[in-house]
Amino acid sequence: MSKYIITVDAGTTSERAIIFNKQGDIVNVSQREFEQFYPKPGWVEHNPLEIWETQKFTISDVLEKQGASAADIAAIGITNQRETTLVWDKKTGKSIHKAIVWQDRRTADYCEELKDQATMDMIQEKTGLLIDAYFSASKIRWILDHVEGAQERAEAGELAFGTVDSWLLWKLTGGKVHATDVSNASRTMIFNIHTLQWDDELLEIFNIPKAMLPEVKSSSEVYGHTDPELFGGKIPIAGIAGDQQSALFGQMCTEPGMVKNTYGTGCFMVMNTGEKVIKSKHKLLSTIAWQIGDEVNYALEGSIFIGGAIVQFLRDNLHFVDNAPEIEALAKTVEDNGGVYFVPGFVGLGAPHWDQYSTGLMIGLTRGTEKGHIARAALEALALQSMEVIDTMALDSGIEQKELRVDGGASANNLLMQIQSDITGLKIVRPQIVETTAQGAAFLAGLAVGYWESKEEIQSLWAIDKTFEPSGDDVSEVKRNWSRAVDRAKAWVE
Ligand code: ADP
Repeated sequence: MSKYIITVDAGTTSERAIIFNKQGDIVNVSQREFEQFYPKPGWVEHNPLEIWETQKFTISDVLEKQGASAADIAAIGITNQRETTLVWDKKTGKSIHKAIVWQDRRTADYCEELKDQATMDMIQEKTGLLIDAYFSASKIRWILDHVEGAQERAEAGELAFGTVDSWLLWKLTGGKVHATDVSNASRTMIFNIHTLQWDDELLEIFNIPKAMLPEVKSSSEVYGHTDPELFGGKIPIAGIAGDQQSALFGQMCTEPGMVKNTYGTGCFMVMNTGEKVIKSKHKLLSTIAWQIGDEVNYALEGSIFIGGAIVQFLRDNLHFVDNAPEIEALAKTVEDNGGVYFVPGFVGLGAPHWDQYSTGLMIGLTRGTEKGHIARAALEALALQSMEVIDTMALDSGIEQKELRVDGGASANNLLMQIQSDITGLKIVRPQIVETTAQGAAFLAGLAVGYWESKEEIQSLWAIDKTFEPSGDDVSEVKRNWSRAVDRAKAWVE
C-alpha cells in the first residue's frame, strides 16, 4: 500500500502540493506564487503555462522534501480556483489565449444584454446560477470572439476548453485525458445540474461548440495517470473538486443541512442540500457539491466579497495593526462596538445583496470612538455578513441550522468566532485541520483508490479543535443597526 495522498491545490494567487498521510494529517507542503496580469481595469489573467509549470514544480518539490517517490503516492487529488477559463490546442497542448480569471469583469456588458427575465429564469433553472461574468460561459465566448479563427477551429474539434482542473489533468496525463468533474462543470453556466450533461440550449445561446468541452466525470474516480516522465512513475489522479466544494467535503459536511463557512479574503458559505437542488429565491447559487459513484450531492452557496480583507484594510491602509491576528487584542480593548458599524462594501456587496454600487461605510462615529471600536466593528462585519447568508439559506432551504463549521485564515480569531456564535445563536465548530480545501480533494482521491475505505472512515479522522456556544447576550440591537448601516452603504456610486 502506498503511503500518501497528494493534493494539488491550484489557487488564484499561488499553487500548492500537499502530502497527506492515512490519518488525514498534512505531512509536507510546497507552495509557489505565480504572476497575476491586469491588462485593463477589471481584467484579470493568468498564464496557463505558468499555472502548469508552477504546479509541476510544487509536486516534484514536495516529493523531494518528503523523500518520497511516485510509488509512495496512492493518488493525486485536484482542487482549484473555479470558473477560470482556458482554451488550448489539442494537438500542441498550447493555450490560444491567457486564462481569463473568475474575477475578470470584461464580459459584464455582454452578460447584461442576456438578462431578460425568461433567459434569467431558464439559466437559473438549468444551471442554478445567476447570469454573471463570474462564470465560464461568457469568458469562453470572449476567447472565441477575440482569437483569430478560434470559432472555426473549435467547431472542427481542434480546441479544448477547460477550467483549471481540466488543464492540470490534461497536462499531468501528458495530453491523454480531457475531463472535468461535476462540481467544476456546475460553475460554467453551460452545464445542466439536473441531467448532468452539457446543455444544448445554453451552448446555442453562447455559440460554444460541443467538440471543445471536456468529458464530465464524478468527483472521485481514476481519471488517468501521470505521465511517467514527470515524476518518475505513474500516479493515479483520482479526485477533483472546485475549492469551495472540496472544503465542504473536507469539513465532512456530508449530510443535508450541514454548513461550512470559510473566512479567507472573502467569506464563502456552502450548505449541503443532499440529493435535492434547492432553487434560491434570494440570490444564492445552487451548485453541485460532488458526485461519488452515482450519488450526487447538491449545495447552496453564498459568497461575501470582503471577509478577512477588512482586516487587511485596517492593517495596510489605516495601519491599525502590524499583522492580522493583532486585531483580536485591539478589539478586546473595548467592551462593545461603541455604536460603530463598518460595512465593507469596497467592491460592491455580494450575497445576499448583490449591490454593485455600494462602497465601504463606517457609521456611528462619535467623539468617544476609539481604534478598538473600529476593530470590533470590523470583526462584527464579518460575522454579520455571514449571518445574513445563513439566514438566507434558512429561508431558501427551510432548514434551521444548529451548527456552523468554520475554516480559513480568520477562523483562528477566537473573538470573531465567539461573536459569530452570539450573533447567529449557532454553535461554531472549528476543526483541528483548517486546510479543509486541500483535505477534501485528498479524501475524494483516497476514496477512489481504496486508500480510505469509506466516508465513515474519513469521518473518524475529522477532529474538533474548539467549539463556541452562544453567550445568550441580546444582539437584536446590533442586528437592527447593521441592517440600517448596510442600507446606507448601498447605491452610493453614481
Ligand atoms: P485566502 O485563502 O483567501 O488567501 P486565508 O484563508 O489565508 O485567505 O486567510 C487570510 C485572511 O484572513 C486575510 O484577509 C487576513 O486579513 C485574515 N486573517 C488572518 N488571520 C486573522 C485573524 N487572526 N483575525 C482576523 N483576520 C485574520
